[in-house]
Amino acid sequence: MRGLNPTSKNTMRNIYDYTLDELAREFRPAYRAKQIYGWLYHRYIDDFDLMSNVSKELRAALKESFSTQCVTILKIEQSVDGSKKYLFGTHDGHSYEAVLLQMREEQSGEKASEARYTICLSSQIGCRVGCAFCLTGKGGFVRNLSAGEIVAQVVHIKRDNGFAPQKGLNIVFMGMGEPLDNFENVVRAIGILSSKDGLSIAPRRQTISTSGIAPRIEQLGKLNLGVQLALSLHAVNDVLRSKLVPMNRSYNIREVLDVLRHFPIDSRKRLLFEYIIIKDVNDDLASAKELLRLLNGFKAKVNLILFNPHEGSSFARPSMESVRKFQEFLLSRGLLCTVRESKGLDISAACGQLREKSAC
Ligand code: SF4
Repeated sequence: MRGLNPTSKNTMRNIYDYTLDELAREFRPAYRAKQIYGWLYHRYIDDFDLMSNVSKELRAALKESFSTQCVTILKIEQSVDGSKKYLFGTHDGHSYEAVLLQMREEQSGEKASEARYTICLSSQIGCRVGCAFCLTGKGGFVRNLSAGEIVAQVVHIKRDNGFAPQKGLNIVFMGMGEPLDNFENVVRAIGILSSKDGLSIAPRRQTISTSGIAPRIEQLGKLNLGVQLALSLHAVNDVLRSKLVPMNRSYNIREVLDVLRHFPIDSRKRLLFEYIIIKDVNDDLASAKELLRLLNGFKAKVNLILFNPHEGSSFARPSMESVRKFQEFLLSRGLLCTVRESKGLDISAACGQLREKSAC
C-alpha cells in the first residue's frame, strides 16, 4: 500500500493511516472495522485492551501489528486568546505543530449553529517552498507526514479538549508544509477525516491552502472531493510574488489563476485568496487595485493576514490604517474581503510561525 508509514524502520503500522475499507479487508467480517473506528474516532480510545466489544483474538491481532502511539503530544501551549498550540512527536524522533483556533462567530463567517473551532493542521515536517515571510520554510524540509500522522492531530486535539464526536469543526491545512507537495497522503487524510463512521468532518469544512502548485491544483480539482481551496497569493505581480513565494518561479500568477478558474467549488462557498499584508511591500492602494483586476470573474474572498513578525525577519507589520484602506477599497468594489485576526501570537502559533522544535 503506497502512502502509508513514511519510514520502513517502524514495523508497527499506524492504525490512523487506514481507511475503514482497508481495515475491513484486514478484519472480516466488516462490522469489526466499524467497531474499531468507533473506539478510535468516537471515544478517542487508543488502548486496544479497552475496546471491550472487540473480541480477545482481534485485540491480540491488533496489538501484534498496529500501533495507536505513532504520534504523541509533547507539549501544549495556551494563548490568552483561547488558541492552543500542540507540539507532536513522531516515532522517528521528529516533531511538528498544529493549532486549535477558537473563532468568534462573526469571524468564522458561518451561521451561529456552525463550528466555532478551527484546527490548523500540518501536512509536512518543514517545507520545501521557502516563503520569505515564513519561519517553517526557513527550517528546510524534513519529510512528509503520513495520512495517519495528519489525522492523529485531530484525534489528539479533540480528545484533549473533550470535544464530543459530533462537534462541528473546521479543518485548514495551513500549518507546517505545502499540502499539495504531499498530495497522496493529504488526499488519503481527507478521506479518513471525512469518513461518516469516523471523525465525520465534511469535506466542505476542510480547506487546502496552497502556494500554487498548478498541476496539483488541477489534479485535486479532478478528484472533486468537495474540499475548499485557498491560494496563498500575497503579491499581485510576478516579480514580487517570486520573491515572497518562490513557487511562483515554477507556476506564475497567470498560470495558477487559469487553473483555479476550473476548480470545482461548493456553490455556497468562494475561492479563498490569502494575502499576507506586509508594511511598505504590498500594502498600498495600487496593489489593492491590481488585486481587484486579477480576481475579476472569480467568486472570491480575500483574506488579509497581517504579517506576524519573527526573529530574523526584515519585514514589518503594517499599520491597521493601511490595512483598513486596502480592505475598504476592495469591499467598495464588491470584492469580499476580511481581515484575519492573528491568533496565538503570544505562543508563536500564528500564520508562518510554526516549526519543528524540541519540547523544552
Ligand atoms: S508559508 Fe506555507 S508554503 Fe510557504 S514556506 Fe511556509 S509552510 Fe511552506
